[in-house]
Amino acid sequence: MRILLQFPQGLKQFALAESAKFEKEGHEVFLSATPCWGACDLALEEAKKTGAQKLVHYGHCKYHEVTEKGLEIEYRLYPIDADLQILKSSLEKINQYKKIGVVTTVSHIHQLDEMKKMLKAAGHEILTSKGSLAIMDGQILGCDASAASKLAPKVDAIVYVGGGEFHPLGIDASKPILAINPYANESYFLNKQIEEKRKKQLGMLIACSQAKRIGILVSIKSGQFSLKAAEAAKARLKELGKSPSILVTGEVDFDSLKDFNSFDAYITTACPRLTDDSERIGKPIINMAQLPALFSLIKESK
Ligand code: SF4
Repeated sequence: MRILLQFPQGLKQFALAESAKFEKEGHEVFLSATPCWGACDLALEEAKKTGAQKLVHYGHCKYHEVTEKGLEIEYRLYPIDADLQILKSSLEKINQYKKIGVVTTVSHIHQLDEMKKMLKAAGHEILTSKGSLAIMDGQILGCDASAASKLAPKVDAIVYVGGGEFHPLGIDASKPILAINPYANESYFLNKQIEEKRKKQLGMLIACSQAKRIGILVSIKSGQFSLKAAEAAKARLKELGKSPSILVTGEVDFDSLKDFNSFDAYITTACPRLTDDSERIGKPIINMAQLPALFSLIKESK
């Protein structure tokens, strides 16, 4: 069988070992080398061009329904065992909180029970929840941290365990949020950074409402493609006196966007977390969740 293996960034280093296993079974293997950040980005085009009968997407679970004629799609998790010692040594920071909500990423979701056990042993009451796009209990995605925000009214604090700040910075909750990073062996409350991010997004929303020429980004990635939403946004912006254009891309290339030298602001219908990249884009950028507020602001300013 012709098989295309796709690994997200950070896991591509394991591709050759997995490829060898398939080859040993007699399969013909291809490796997708394009950047991949989520299961929203299946390598369907590469699969088609290589005539692959199967696409194995590693490191994420299913994100959206995809049916591609003649192509079997398999999602394989790639669990990574994080050293949870740092969770133990961070417990004093949440001493005063009784009810704790716990969230993590798909890479460490297999350790969720162990995390809960450690927190319970320290006398906490533990709550977890399921998000809307993230399908596993306690799991958050960059674009879906609702497993955390749903818990917020019921808990005293939220604990995130995992690498980096990208995932926990997506949490929208008024409770203390402790980010525990087993890779950097550190833990700290993220509320200040989340508040700064919120203020920055508000500033970009206002800037976008004052912009004349607006680029609406559409990505052809399987789980991000949203042409209808972009067309609807374009029509409404025109009614409101703006000059919108729809920009179609796969991976958003910041230099390529700059080369247009034409837009005062952007709206992403693709990954909503592109708003984190405004510095690299060099212009204000908002996402679809902010559209109603954008339209209201433009109307008010007339
Ligand atoms: S849409 Fe963005 S945040 Fe959501 S899974 Fe894809 S890359 Fe991650």
